[in-house]
Amino acid sequence: MVSSILLQDHHEKNNYNSYLYKKPIIIKLATTMEKKTSNGNGSVKKSAPKTAKPKSSNASENGSMQESQLMKLFQDELKDIYWAEKALTKAIPKMIKNATSEDLAAALEAHLEETQEHVARVEQVFEILGKTATAKKCEAMAGLIEEAQAIMEDCEEGSMRDAGIISAGQKVEHYEIASYGTLCQFAETLGLEEIKNILGQTLDEEKAADEKLSEVAESAINVAAAHEQE
Ligand code: FE
Ligand code: FE
Ligand code: ZN
Repeated sequence: MVSSILLQDHHEKNNYNSYLYKKPIIIKLATTMEKKTSNGNGSVKKSAPKTAKPKSSNASENGSMQESQLMKLFQDELKDIYWAEKALTKAIPKMIKNATSEDLAAALEAHLEETQEHVARVEQVFEILGKTATAKKCEAMAGLIEEAQAIMEDCEEGSMRDAGIISAGQKVEHYEIASYGTLCQFAETLGLEEIKNILGQTLDEEKAADEKLSEVAESAINVAAAHEQE
């Protein structure tokens, strides 16, 4: 039995870089598991003994094994994004301090408030699962935050640094969009409807934040272009 999880296209509203998102990604889970019909001492019997469980029972066992593996993966990803969101509540204020454009600072302020809400939502999800909220260092987000810091140090204050902050910010948003998109799909596959809805709200806010940064970037470019014409 091969169970396939279809990761839906969460990006259909974005009309840029859309080639990256057009094709749904198929994850094949535990396809090798069913092939292991070892009799316990390492050798594989060609015909199962008569006392073996009926096929349908084996299939459902494999199904629940896959489900518990997916549940573990889901919880690992949740710990990862929990660390990432908490790290962002500390990183975004630095980006706000470094921003020159009022639009950019306002967009970051608004998203900082949302990010605090994102932390609370992940805690809510852990609670629903009956688990203690635990963070596991997300190396990817740590790297993205480090890069943002380097950009701010390297770029001259003003529109250049703003452009760098937008660039770093959008990389962060895209990481979050990918994470929450996957988490929502896993939740759906696991039949966790309430959790899927909670994380779906965050996913929508990450997408909106990304779009807002694009808007800020476009208006900044327009302003720069207008100055060049003068
Ligand atoms: Fe977030
Ligand atoms: Fe991560
Ligand atoms: Zn975000």
